[in-house]
Amino acid sequence: MSKGSMTIENGRLVTPFSVFPGTVVIENGIISYVGSSAAAPAGVEPVLDAGGAYITPGLIDIHVHGGGGGDVMDGTREALELMGQTFSRWGTTAFLPATVTAGHRETLGAVEAVKEAAEKGTGGAEVLGIHLEGPYIDYSKRGAQHPDHIRPPSLTELEEVWRAAGPLLRLVTLAPEIEGAEKAIRQLRSWNVTVAIGHSNATYEQAMAAHLWGASHICHVFNGMRGLHHREPGVVGAALTCDGFSVELICDGVHVHPAAMDLVLRAKGPDKVVLITDTLRAMGLPEGRYQLGGLEVEVTEEAARLLTGELAGSTLSMAKAVKNAVQMLGVSVPEAIRMASLNPARTIGISHRKGSLTVGKDGDIALFDTELNPLVTIVGGRVVYQRA
Ligand SMILES: [Zn+2]
Repeated sequence: MSKGSMTIENGRLVTPFSVFPGTVVIENGIISYVGSSAAAPAGVEPVLDAGGAYITPGLIDIHVHGGGGGDVMDGTREALELMGQTFSRWGTTAFLPATVTAGHRETLGAVEAVKEAAEKGTGGAEVLGIHLEGPYIDYSKRGAQHPDHIRPPSLTELEEVWRAAGPLLRLVTLAPEIEGAEKAIRQLRSWNVTVAIGHSNATYEQAMAAHLWGASHICHVFNGMRGLHHREPGVVGAALTCDGFSVELICDGVHVHPAAMDLVLRAKGPDKVVLITDTLRAMGLPEGRYQLGGLEVEVTEEAARLLTGELAGSTLSMAKAVKNAVQMLGVSVPEAIRMASLNPARTIGISHRKGSLTVGKDGDIALFDTELNPLVTIVGGRVVYQRA
């Protein structure tokens, strides 16, 4: 997508640590000024009056499978366009599409589509690369992952993905207790890929060993792993006590009880919690009944369910996750925004160019009203969404 220039004035700038009145200027897709309105350079047009709204860095979702009717596993650029355009309605300016456990050819097909969408843009949020969630996971903690394709890590397969994706391969979620995981983690780290523990039945000791091999992130903490037991703390115990791990949190109050979310925040602090949505293709669709991925699904504001009542995915948005963090956890707006922008950017190694309102970073911006409802979304200095 081409890069734009614009001035966003009269807003409340949300930096990682504070909120103050001011202006942001973007030139050729890059932030060129952040500060008081009085000192802002004149003449960069168009000018958008924020009308006192929050001006925040664009939200970054590093764990998402689908939205707007599209799914990463469709293996098409169109699906990723639907996702990018849909997410941008909730302040998301960049996302890391996640695969699910599937056959190797299918995964490679998804990687090809991601490469194309990353290069050509989606008309909405930017595609940052790919997150492999599975297939190298523990059968007993597979959750909604397809059982038929779960298998031990294969260096040959990983090398093929790496050859296809290159630096766009940013995150791999696996279970470190399965045969071959150590070699896979060490190999991925040599390529500078972030490794997350997830869908894992690892003990505390196994999780800490994986940290020594290079794993540094936890896939949706509490979900897809054994609970916290005082004699066998498991992955959760390692995640909460080892500062070397950042943790993903599905902050909808359903996947993790608010008290357990509070525990995560107290243990990790606002710099190590990464808000994610983990949504499937029904996210962002108007309420109603759909044929999605060969299944009949009823979509409501709360969730997507099969006609049997079984959950077929959350319909959480990053904006809602931020709002929930403020309302359910009592964090400040800068902290909630940090957990949804700077922290995810750090996790996948892109914080030098995204994640905060900083001169020199990409002109990815979101505007929210005082209730944290999304108003305007800007990607690379161009407005991709504006609330009617
Ligand atoms: Zn997932």
